[in-house]
Amino acid sequence: MNVGFIGLGAMGLPMAKRVIGAGHQLRTTFHRNRAPAEELAALGARVLSTPAEVARESEAVITILPADAELKQAVLGANGVLEGFAAGKVLIEMTTATAFTVREVEAALAGVGGRVLDAPVSGGTPAAANGTLTIIVGGDADLLEQCRPLLESMGKSIPHVGAVGQGKVVKIVNQVLAATHLLAMAEALALGIKCGGDPKVIYEVLKTSSGYSKMMDLRLPGFLFNGAFQPGFKLDLMKKDLNLAVDSAQALAIPLAFGSLAAQIFAAASTAGRGGEDFSAAADFLAGLAGARLDGGRQRSAE
Ligand code: NAD
Repeated sequence: MNVGFIGLGAMGLPMAKRVIGAGHQLRTTFHRNRAPAEELAALGARVLSTPAEVARESEAVITILPADAELKQAVLGANGVLEGFAAGKVLIEMTTATAFTVREVEAALAGVGGRVLDAPVSGGTPAAANGTLTIIVGGDADLLEQCRPLLESMGKSIPHVGAVGQGKVVKIVNQVLAATHLLAMAEALALGIKCGGDPKVIYEVLKTSSGYSKMMDLRLPGFLFNGAFQPGFKLDLMKKDLNLAVDSAQALAIPLAFGSLAAQIFAAASTAGRGGEDFSAAADFLAGLAGARLDGGRQRSAE
């Protein structure tokens, strides 16, 4: 299958490699940094100069961009995907963005006969490299079945959760929980440390206790215990996801107490200069407010 791939960042590059590895003909383009596109060219991808050209030469186009603004630019902007789209083509949209924007994109592409699958992902960069992502799909069931073999080159669990937009909704719910679990874990461990506890011993006990969260396995070893904050998933991207959640709650006039607090803490950590680090740096920042270090006091690797 001829597959276009737009957005070659921490997630997109390893995902695009999986698509090539599954035997598809990949077309891509570059944005500012040429290096990821050249890496794919060495594996047989064709590098074209605009998203419109990528769309023109592809049956399915995959996008995984930072957020709504970049998604709109790459699809609806000048030389965007829309200009190269036509009936029979499908956009598989994997950005963590708002339901509103993916529906706007769907309406525009439907105007030229194209179709859209809303397919944000969960699992992080290791799952992107191994092809074990969770791909949360909103869209027509028949289109999902048509695209399933391509999605299976990148993901293992591929739930269908409703119409276009519902994938984004489920993803944002996950992000609110991931961020609040991370921060609650940091605050509680900081208390334990200040009371003289050893965070590694506490973690071992929590693994089989009611306070356990998967976030502990994902971000204590390798990140917080090592004082290592190379992304991973950038702090500013999680800040963006929390702000999407807060905006949605405001639009619905409902409270989002923990999510709003998490958004404030991520904003403070970003202002403190940690936005480009892994999102677990927000936990390090919060523990630091209590004067506690989860890495036992070693220098941060990003310092
Ligand atoms: P990233 O910042 O590493 O990569 C984004 C890529 O998009 C960059 O290569 C950038 O050059 C490119 N880009 C930006 N604007 C563009 C444009 N107009 N046209 C073409 N390319 C453009 O981000 P990431 O970590 O790969 O995340 C991508 C999306 O996936 C985000 O929505 C993020 O929230 C989500 N996500 C990330 C992770 C993770 O662990 N990193 C996990 C799940 C979901």
